[in-house]
Amino acid sequence: AAMRESRIKRTKTVCTFCGVGCSFEVWTKGREILKIEPSVDAPVNGVSTCVKGKWGWDFVNSEERLTKPLIRKGDRFVESTWEEALDLIQSKLGNVKETHGPHSIGYISSSKCSNEENYIFQKFARAVMGSNNVDNCSRYCQSPATSGLMRTVGMGGDSGTMVDIQMSELVIIVGANPAESHPVLATRVKRSHKLTGQKLVVADLRKNEMAERADVHLHPKPGSDLVWISAVTKYIIDQGWAAKHFLDKRVNGYEEYVKSLDIFTLDYAEQVTGLSKQQIIGVAEMVHESRSTCILWAMGVTQHMGATDTSTAICNLLLITGNFGRPGTGAYPLRGHNNVQGACDFGTMPSYMPGYEKISDPLVRTRYEKAWGVKLSEQAGYDNHQMVDGIQNGDLKALYLYGEDMALVDANSNFVEEMFEKLEFFVVQDVFFSRTAQYADVVLPASPSLEKEGTFTNTEKRIQRFYQVFEPLGESKPDWVIIQEVANRFGAGWNYTHPSEIMAEAASLAPLFSGVSYERLEGWKSQVWPVGPDGAGTPILYTDRFHFPDGKANLFPVKWTPPYKPEEQYDLHINNGRLLEHFHEGNLTYKSEGIRHKVPGTWLEVSEELAAERGVKDGSLVRLVSPFGQVKVRVLVTDRVKGKELYLPMNTPDPEEAINRLTSSLFDIVTHTPNYKEMNVRMEVLEKD
Ligand code: SF4
Repeated sequence: AAMRESRIKRTKTVCTFCGVGCSFEVWTKGREILKIEPSVDAPVNGVSTCVKGKWGWDFVNSEERLTKPLIRKGDRFVESTWEEALDLIQSKLGNVKETHGPHSIGYISSSKCSNEENYIFQKFARAVMGSNNVDNCSRYCQSPATSGLMRTVGMGGDSGTMVDIQMSELVIIVGANPAESHPVLATRVKRSHKLTGQKLVVADLRKNEMAERADVHLHPKPGSDLVWISAVTKYIIDQGWAAKHFLDKRVNGYEEYVKSLDIFTLDYAEQVTGLSKQQIIGVAEMVHESRSTCILWAMGVTQHMGATDTSTAICNLLLITGNFGRPGTGAYPLRGHNNVQGACDFGTMPSYMPGYEKISDPLVRTRYEKAWGVKLSEQAGYDNHQMVDGIQNGDLKALYLYGEDMALVDANSNFVEEMFEKLEFFVVQDVFFSRTAQYADVVLPASPSLEKEGTFTNTEKRIQRFYQVFEPLGESKPDWVIIQEVANRFGAGWNYTHPSEIMAEAASLAPLFSGVSYERLEGWKSQVWPVGPDGAGTPILYTDRFHFPDGKANLFPVKWTPPYKPEEQYDLHINNGRLLEHFHEGNLTYKSEGIRHKVPGTWLEVSEELAAERGVKDGSLVRLVSPFGQVKVRVLVTDRVKGKELYLPMNTPDPEEAINRLTSSLFDIVTHTPNYKEMNVRMEVLEKD
């Protein structure tokens, strides 16, 4: 028994299936995963995990893994050596750069990959290739939340940690379903709600699990959150309940903001949102009566045309009531991918260097130019959305994308695929041959987190290390190794031998991370940014000052943008979100046998009223048609959705039934995040039984 035990290896890792950032040990023998063992020392989750963290790892040994580079030959892909693949990238990408200039290439980074990988990818785009056309998939989810925070309080991250959410007297969740999307975080809220008298308000179209538990479930009309939130804020001010002392001392723009609220009367809010005046007053009273309020939000807010403004309205409400800078208060956009926060933090954004310093600031550029020995472009880069448009109008000729299945996850996927066809050269780097890889000229085999080292940053800005469990499968390599090899083909001359060296460089350049180091992150240790030179983190932001030169926050007036609605024949609203068991587009979890066995596919949630009207029942097959495409799906009749509102989980194993066959190319005006949540469809019944 002792012998057997000695062959068992235990390695600490950080979960890659959502932004909560649970950590645990992986027990392995050879390449076999024996079990996942959480620990009381894990800073986020202690001994808890959810089904994905516990059972979602078999994909690393899947036979479908990419183990060799692939090169397109006509309609086929053939295996190649690394040498051949890198030669081809060097000559083709080099050629595009030479012929059409550095800005004719786009770089799409990955919020599934590590902080170090994101850091060197943006360095590759900027310092080696000469372009700021670098973005990551937070563009599809959380950019509006980041913008709302930057406008009002100045930092693009959660204001506190999960401890604050747990200890808050009132938690308001808007357009999110943490019970399925952030399960371990949801457990904390459920516990506090049950045991400590914490109050819970949930605003969501769907009666999800958190809404069922809530003291108040608000079901506003789709896309109208800004209006009820602003009406709650106005009511609080009108009652004289604003946090006068806090506002006087710490906030700018009060007078102008109050004027901007004139329109948000209870009558107007009732008419636009469909909520009753009493419901709106009820929420205002709950905020007033609570000594601490946290607001959590996610894609139900951020995937709309007015998403940045709604995120701003949330921050305005928290400012008016003095709910920043104290334990139990603050704004919490819930990050989806495990490293959405880190990808943005480490600079894979077109206008920001690592640590949210503007590329347009000459002092910032000079600091990096000195360190990197190059001249940086001042030209603001394209975001993901602009890159796709750039292909259409001929500005963008080549793309380098890693750890992202853009053909599935971008809105209006039919259009995106059409654009990929037009690229002169396309590099895709991934663990599996994704839908997007079909359009590539070169596909590079990457290693998932269990086969490399690095750090991830969770939704509460907590940086944690993960360690290598296995050797890379076949000839696959860690993304940072591949990016370095490609960069060196373009004369970078890099010789990073370990991700810790990349982090050390980032920490020396970006003040937000100045005291971050691998030693300080050893084992179960973690750091919450901003991290001072002495290594001390900042679990609660804004205790003394907001992140603006005068230290004061800004109330930022906003207007409501009505959601997109196609013509009347599209009579049903379709909403989308996640399933507990699956991760995003499902390209990892559907390859994990246990999870696939439990939940082999998705379904369309249809209300009891609509099912009766259309004569459908559980298992009926329907076609949904939007102005942009169509899908065929099976029906599940449920009381979670109401009336003419449908719900389709986005985690499908079948690209032909993906929600993004239906969504449009419209977007949030400020950040270009697609309005995935604003779509109407019509339903055709194909099989009733
Ligand atoms: Fe992983 Fe999120 Fe589940 Fe934690 S809650 S185990 S981070 S998927």
